[in-house]
Amino acid sequence: MSKPRVAILGLGIMGGGMANRLLSSGFPVAAYNRNPAKAAPFASAGAFVAGSPREAASRAEIIISMVADDISSKSVWLGENGALVGAARGSVLIESSTLTVGWIKELSAAAAQRGFEFLDAPVTGTKPHAASGELLFLVGGSASALAMAQPVFSVLGRETVYLGPTGSGALLKLINNFMCGVQAASFAEAVSLIEAGGLDRAKAEAILTSGAPGSGIVKRAAASAAANDFTPNFPLRLMAKDLGYAIDEASQHRLPLQTATSALTVFKQAITQGYGDEDFSAVVKATLPKNA
Ligand code: NAP
Repeated sequence: MSKPRVAILGLGIMGGGMANRLLSSGFPVAAYNRNPAKAAPFASAGAFVAGSPREAASRAEIIISMVADDISSKSVWLGENGALVGAARGSVLIESSTLTVGWIKELSAAAAQRGFEFLDAPVTGTKPHAASGELLFLVGGSASALAMAQPVFSVLGRETVYLGPTGSGALLKLINNFMCGVQAASFAEAVSLIEAGGLDRAKAEAILTSGAPGSGIVKRAAASAAANDFTPNFPLRLMAKDLGYAIDEASQHRLPLQTATSALTVFKQAITQGYGDEDFSAVVKATLPKNA
């Protein structure tokens, strides 16, 4: 069976890794990025570099967006030269960015109005998982669309989980990430208290990370801090975005999401101190405000 042609809209940390993974697996790829300088290297790897989402979409059966937030998603799908205008009949549209459930539903409706199948398929995993095809896809939408997209998900991911109607993937992803954000923020506060209390930081962190508080995300944050390497795998500003989206989503169910709200305060402090473009783990560098 011939491999479907795939468009990747957004060649950042995640989209770039996914495009390279598809290219090295022999898939024809049309790649688009808002900043064209970032797209240029994909031409030498064999991709068709498109000048607009519309052009990329016109050359693909499977169209995947992997951009920063709701605003960028709206721009690549529904902009004047957006993918929805260029997509050919029968294409499957996939939104893999971490976005609000409300926007995903709007986008799905816009796709349906034009006769397209649409999936929300955000991912867990980070830069190395995107590059090596070990993402976990959390999918909402129609099972028939998923069947069409599966050959692509199988190359990009270790597993695809079908969660139900449109927005189900987006919702679980926000829940996943607000829990990650809360744990990373609690680790940042723990580090502040370790230092304020004069404990041996390395010893204290070793106890915490090897014990009950040592979740995957806390271990990752501690490892980055120990190596003093905050090169972004998952930029801190995006973790803050996800905490905000989760809080907004919960508020629509009249749930206050208090831990996420506190964590967002810590992340905002880190952004104010200039760490937004570093890895989320740079939250440990934030100097937390002290009570008078
Ligand atoms: P990133 O490296 O910051 O890339 C963001 C992408 O969005 C870039 O291609 C950027 O284009 C594009 N973009 C931003 N604003 C835009 C706009 N207004 N119009 C069009 N394009 C725009 O982010 P990433 O880490 O790849 O994350 C992409 C998505 O995946 C996010 O929703 C993130 O939350 C989610 N995610 C990330 C990770 C991770 O570990 N990194 C893991 C799971 C999910 P330019 O280059 O032109 O700025």
